[in-house]
Amino acid sequence: MVDTDSSLPSDFIRDIINEDLKTGKHQGRVATRFPPEPNGYPHIGHAKSVCLNFGIAKQYEGTCNLRMDDTDPSGESMEYVDSIIKDVKWLGFDWEDRLYFASDYYDQLYEYALQLISMGKAYVCELNADEIREYRGSFNEPGKESPYRNRSIEENLDLFERMRAGEFDEGTHVLRAKIDMASPNITMRDPVMYRIKKETHYRTGDKWCLYPMYDFTHCLSDSIEGITHSICTLEFENNRPLYDWFINELKVENRPQQIEFARLNLSFTVMSKRRLLELVEKGLVNGWDDPRMPTLAGIRRRGYTPEAIRDFCERIGVAKNESMIDMALLENCARDDLNEKSPRVMAVLRPLRVVIDNYPEDRVEEFDCPYHPQNEDMGTRKVPFSRVLYIEQGDFMENPPRKFYRLGIGREVRLRYGYFIKCESVVTNPDTGEVVEVHCTHDPETRSGFAPDGRKVRATIHWVSADHSLPAEVRLYDRLLKEADPTMKEDSDFADYLNPNSLEILTSCRVERSLAGTKPESRFQFERTGYFCVDSVDSSAKALIFNQTVTLRDSWARISKNK
Ligand code: ATP
Ligand code: MG
Repeated sequence: MVDTDSSLPSDFIRDIINEDLKTGKHQGRVATRFPPEPNGYPHIGHAKSVCLNFGIAKQYEGTCNLRMDDTDPSGESMEYVDSIIKDVKWLGFDWEDRLYFASDYYDQLYEYALQLISMGKAYVCELNADEIREYRGSFNEPGKESPYRNRSIEENLDLFERMRAGEFDEGTHVLRAKIDMASPNITMRDPVMYRIKKETHYRTGDKWCLYPMYDFTHCLSDSIEGITHSICTLEFENNRPLYDWFINELKVENRPQQIEFARLNLSFTVMSKRRLLELVEKGLVNGWDDPRMPTLAGIRRRGYTPEAIRDFCERIGVAKNESMIDMALLENCARDDLNEKSPRVMAVLRPLRVVIDNYPEDRVEEFDCPYHPQNEDMGTRKVPFSRVLYIEQGDFMENPPRKFYRLGIGREVRLRYGYFIKCESVVTNPDTGEVVEVHCTHDPETRSGFAPDGRKVRATIHWVSADHSLPAEVRLYDRLLKEADPTMKEDSDFADYLNPNSLEILTSCRVERSLAGTKPESRFQFERTGYFCVDSVDSSAKALIFNQTVTLRDSWARISKNK
């Protein structure tokens, strides 16, 4: 039974599928696939395609295969295959035993090519790449037929066999489909099906020295796997007639239908694998899993959950027109998700020493603090309070303007979960004039967070005990690019577009004691600061390192003000 629950996503692709199910096309089957080329780590754009293909299979009780579209030995590798497998799993999808590789179909594809040659529908062409381009014509002008176009079938079979045997050099011979050099669709002007590449393939080794082109491979791989709906991005719209041509000429049993949707573009970042590889290779970021990268590996390391990514993909939906999605939407999905799941803890990123002069030197109180304001099930932890604390430098101003409600000389604030404190004096560095220590008094009557005399404070600030907190490193991230949507020229220097402040490393942070020994990837809300997670690569029991996932919208200061 197909679920027609109205809470399920609906879009033009699902409309097509509903119609196909009604008319009995594809015998009522729904089979999709996610077909990445393993030449880079998957990014958030791929997540859109993953969620779409696997989501449809799930909704219609069909199947979704994971297929590596590996048709080009240059740039493909097992490292990338592994990253794709890891990331699709992480997103929460399951291809069961259906992990496939286009390279497993090379023999079968070769047979298909022989079949087309035998039908007089493909020929070996000896024009070089430049000549082929020249002969192809342009949008306004029809192409010219290759002088090799009308070779006999026997000659073509012989030459193709010799191409395979390695007799010819790269670029000297290609196999082309014999379609129509005058077609208004340039893709149909005798496209190349096979080219010679004397390179070792990461899976087939040196077995082949000629490799099938993507357009030839993709449709037939879909057909071999019995795919019904072959969903791809819009740039393949012009390739659809070619897709159908191969399927129809070869009279294959399974005839998948290609459907195109708009790819995801996200502001302030790039989504092309070529550009991402450039960032990695030039050392402009620290690897594919750098938390600034839009790769799933980077996004995961940054602290995003798979639920947030799936929610994002659902919210952006699927359409037929290109658009640019605001990075803020992705960040909002992370906030909504992390807000519910993350324990609240206190961490001071830029510490300023506070001494409570009227608090006994040897006294330590343990405050019972809930991990989540709305979720009691998360429990509580004890946070030690003592005479010397750290607060954020930003929560203190020596000469505050009227609208600054936090700490200043003669001003009183509430410490989160604790007392009211009032600033009495400061110690400054005689050389720089910088405030290095703030002296306060606390009101012992305000332990509950309220004053018995009813007096109010306008801000609540977070803190940690100096002696009982732990040192930590915190990595703050900003947008990868300076501009939301820069028009990048092909040959321009990528570095010019990068935000020079995309990473700020704070090495003298202090976090509350309860964070000792937290595992990599654990996620927290640092009160008033944002969502953070323990770095999965560099953090250790000896040196705690946190990545900022996303900032908070609201701060305690503002909430208190509204009371
Ligand atoms: P790039 O252009 O960055 O190299 P690609 O499209 O060549 O990306 P593939 O590995 O071929 O990358 O992509 C696998 C699948 O993911 C394809 O079906 C492709 O259409 C889809 N995809 C790639 N990028 C996006 C995107 N930004 N939004 C949605 N789907 C995408
Ligand atoms: Mg591609």
